[in-house]
Amino acid sequence: MLPDPTSSERISSRTRLLAALLQNRGRSRSELVSLLGLSRQTVTTLVAEAEQAGLVEQRVRSEEAAGPVMGRPPLRISLASDAAFGVGIEIAHDHVRSAVCNVNGEVLTLHSAPIDIGTHATRIFDLAAELAFSALAESGVPRSKVMGAGAALPAPVDARNGTVHTRDFLPAWRGTHPAAALRERLEMPVRLANDAYAGALGEWLFGAAQAVSGALYVRLSAGIGVGLILGGRPYTGSGGIAGELGHTYVSDQGTICRCGNRGCLETIAGTAAVVARLEQGRKQCVSSAELIGLAHEGHRSARRALTDAGDAVGRVLAGAVNLLNPDRVIVGGDLAAAGAIVTDAIRAGVARGAVAPAAETVEVVTGALGERAEALGAAAIQLERAPAVLAARLEAA
Ligand SMILES: [Zn+2]
Repeated sequence: MLPDPTSSERISSRTRLLAALLQNRGRSRSELVSLLGLSRQTVTTLVAEAEQAGLVEQRVRSEEAAGPVMGRPPLRISLASDAAFGVGIEIAHDHVRSAVCNVNGEVLTLHSAPIDIGTHATRIFDLAAELAFSALAESGVPRSKVMGAGAALPAPVDARNGTVHTRDFLPAWRGTHPAAALRERLEMPVRLANDAYAGALGEWLFGAAQAVSGALYVRLSAGIGVGLILGGRPYTGSGGIAGELGHTYVSDQGTICRCGNRGCLETIAGTAAVVARLEQGRKQCVSSAELIGLAHEGHRSARRALTDAGDAVGRVLAGAVNLLNPDRVIVGGDLAAAGAIVTDAIRAGVARGAVAPAAETVEVVTGALGERAEALGAAAIQLERAPAVLAARLEAA
């Protein structure tokens, strides 16, 4: 007879099961057996005890139940939607959003308000906390089930110590400690991430980058950033700077960028630059949402402003496509709402600058999560901890 597994072995197998389900919802038992490399008996036992503790659910998929397949349809195993929750905060150049999300990537409540990122940081932290509290209250989720909060910021974040590179990116935040400030206000664990990284994490766990080995999530907003999925995992680089595509040099003729260099991609394809080019032509103010609306209505100048931006982004992305040979480029951020107008232009820019075999195989698509990608990804920073936390709680029970 085999000896009983030790407590740490049990915690580790439970963590692996729950982590596999966080990333792969609705798996059959056989799929879990091959995914985890454990015996069928072990998987059956682990699933049964997690189900008893209310952490997983088993269901027959309605289309499989109704389908013409012979025999009994398999039970599909997922994490219980109330197993754990995360708070996701997105701090962008012109708004703050706070959302309460569950382990299956569903946004229960999302509260947002406009801000100017140049405002004093303390006011922004107060607003983020206020929105998080109202989203939590409306969701009715008990605090004991909240893993913590993640915050997506428009600046690089060093994942090793949670420090924000404010100097060139958020000058108004210099000398502040955003993680500590939010932790104090929210009274829960807080982790920070760059906004494009958070968007990539959201799309990787719950959207267009699921089960994709190599993906570039390109966030096209006031800033332009890339979140990387490499070898099937999110990647931050050694100091969190990976993906700062917006500050890639593209033109001698460009204007001076907020980072201090001249002619960065952001000064050509960031929303402010795109809107400014259209305003020059029309001699009136437009917002980025209005610009996209005009483009969808077929206005040639609005379409031109967006396709020029997409083409410039695509040409810069071509270098990354040559370097990394990704399966998919996923477009998020404000300009993603332009859909094919932007994705077609990016595809053309990539085709012009990348080697044919890489350019021909990379798919360029808009994200599946829309404008919620960053808030959901921010919550996912905490939801990723849920498998280990829940497995340890199960052992202690
Ligand atoms: Zn720059």
